[in-house]
Parts: sequence; C-alpha cells; structure tokens
Amino acid sequence: MKIAMLSRNPDLYSHRRLKEAAEARGHEFEVINTTRCYMNIASRRPEIYYNGELLPEYDAVIPRIGASVTFYGMAVVRQFEMMGVYCLNKSIAIGRSRDKLRSMQLMAREGIGLPVTTFAYDPKQTEEVVQLAGGAPLVIKLLEGTQGVGVVLADSDRSARSVIEAFRGAKINIMAQEFIKEAKGTDIRAFVIGGRVVAAMKRSGAEGEFRSNLHRGGSAQVAKISPEERSTAIRAAKTMGLSVCGVDMLRSNHGPVVMEVNSSPGIEGIEKATEKDVATMIIEHIEKNADPSKTRAKAV
Ligand code: ADP
Ligand code: GLU
Repeated sequence: MKIAMLSRNPDLYSHRRLKEAAEARGHEFEVINTTRCYMNIASRRPEIYYNGELLPEYDAVIPRIGASVTFYGMAVVRQFEMMGVYCLNKSIAIGRSRDKLRSMQLMAREGIGLPVTTFAYDPKQTEEVVQLAGGAPLVIKLLEGTQGVGVVLADSDRSARSVIEAFRGAKINIMAQEFIKEAKGTDIRAFVIGGRVVAAMKRSGAEGEFRSNLHRGGSAQVAKISPEERSTAIRAAKTMGLSVCGVDMLRSNHGPVVMEVNSSPGIEGIEKATEKDVATMIIEHIEKNADPSKTRAKAV
C-alpha cells in the first residue's frame, strides 16, 4: 500500500516508529507536512497540492494532527476523505475529541463514567459553577489544553473562583471538575485500536504533582486494567468515533472516569512501558480496513 502520514515533525519517536513499521511490512510510506498542503475546494475533482505538485493517490492516510493546527489539519484530512482516501481517524472524530466539553457531553449521553464537570460562559455564574461541581478542591482546565498545560488545582472555593474569573475575564473557555483525589496523581492510558484495548499503562506524576502527564515529568508503567476500565475505554473510543486513540481515565471511588480521548496518541510511552509493538498494530489495522478498491471512488 501507499501510506501517507500527516505530520509536522517526522523525527518524533511515534512518527519514526510508524514509518519503520509500515516499511517493514512492505508498504510505501511518505510523511507530509500538514500545514504545507494546499487544496482546491471548488473543483469537482478534489485535489491536494504539496510543494508545487499534485499529491499522488494514497491508499491510506494516518493523521497525526497537533493541537495547534487542529482547524487546518481537519480541513486537510477532510479533503482526503472527499477524495475517497481511507483516513485512519476521520476529521469529524478528531474535531470532536479536541473539544473537551463536546466530548464530555457525548460521553455523558452514553452513560460513560466522567468526573463531575461544570461550565458557564459568564463570569457572573462563577459561584454557581463552583458549587455545582461540588466545591473545592476543584480542577480547572482549558477546554483546548494539552499536555497538562492549563490544568490547575484550586484548593479552596476562593481560589477556584479567582482562577475561573481570571480565565473567563481573558475570554478563555474552561471547565471546572471535581478533583479525583483518590487517583493520587496517577492516571490510566488505554490505547485503543479498532475497538480493542491493545495496551495500557499507568502514569504517575512527579513528586508533589497531581498531573501525571509524561511531558510534566511523570513516569509510566504497564497497567493491568479491570474489565470495567477496558469497556469504558472501548465505549469512549466508539462514542468519539476514533479507530485509534488513547483514552485517559482516573481510578475514582465511583469507578473509572474518562478525562479525555486523544486522537493522536503518542506511541513512545506506551511501547516502552508495555513492550508492545503498537506501531505495527496500527499498520495492521490499516491493512485490514483500507480497501484499495474503494479508494478514490467517492470523489464527487
Ligand atoms: P491534558 O489534556 O492537558 O493532558 P488532562 O485533563 O489530561 O489535561 O489533565 C492532566 C492531568 O491532570 C491528568 O493526566 C491527571 O493526572 C490530572 N487531572 C486532570 N483532571 C483531574 C481531576 N479531575 N482529578 C484529578 N486529577 C486530574
Ligand atoms: N452526530 C454525532 C452525535 O450526536 C456527532 C456529534 C458531534 O460530533 O458533536 O453523536
């Protein structure tokens, strides 16, 4: 197959591994810088250009869209979809998972365990938002933050109110969430491919840090997850409509709660912690699902 990976940084571990795994299985693999793609929308035959040339026809596209280029990245993925190319994750599913509030609303409807979460537009409702979330301690987070940046723990109602007011005053969208203290700075990342959890790790924050992100100095270990955690991760992936994703959960005393579903999950942490070849599993999933006979047939 001819596979293209949309990515701005081919040197990242995850991206090197995907290329290696694809080539080891006999596929052609190209890395395309998402933001350098340009396209014509009005034409009856959708196309994408890159470095002055029309991109060739691919059998599959792996979108690895960074959070800072979500909007344009989704448009590029959508254009591939218009051309009938199989995209590992669909643009609509990527967009859905990038908006934490929208994701939580959809998961809540499916009855998936979530931390109690509140949100309001107007800073005048700050007091109500704090009370509705159950009062301090509360976690306040940016709706579109990543890697733990913009996740704040407020110990008292007073600090929760000032953090919310500061963010809302700056017109930044946030949500307030019950603090899952019993998780003790540890979260579970379940890696889902094609509706199955293929690997799971637990991440623990650095000393004195409630955020377990590896980018914030957290450390990862293989995790044995319960059947309930497994089914929660699978249902979260299905609700988002993502074929490949990382589902982040906390172990709360009311069962597993989903914090977020990541549509471009890193491979390094999970491969190192679990010693599983996640990159090859992703390529195998593409082999099973990208039907070369369907490719390019759907252009309208
Ligand atoms: P990001 O998308 O920026 O990584 P997360 O929502 O995943 O933000 O939060 C970052 C980290 O903060 C999580 O991995 C978790 O360890 C911690 N955390 C987030 N929300 C809560 C919460 N409600 N209760 C306890 N810890 C939390
Ligand atoms: N129509 C889908 C739903 O209601 C998607 C909604 C969305 O992506 O926000 O589940």
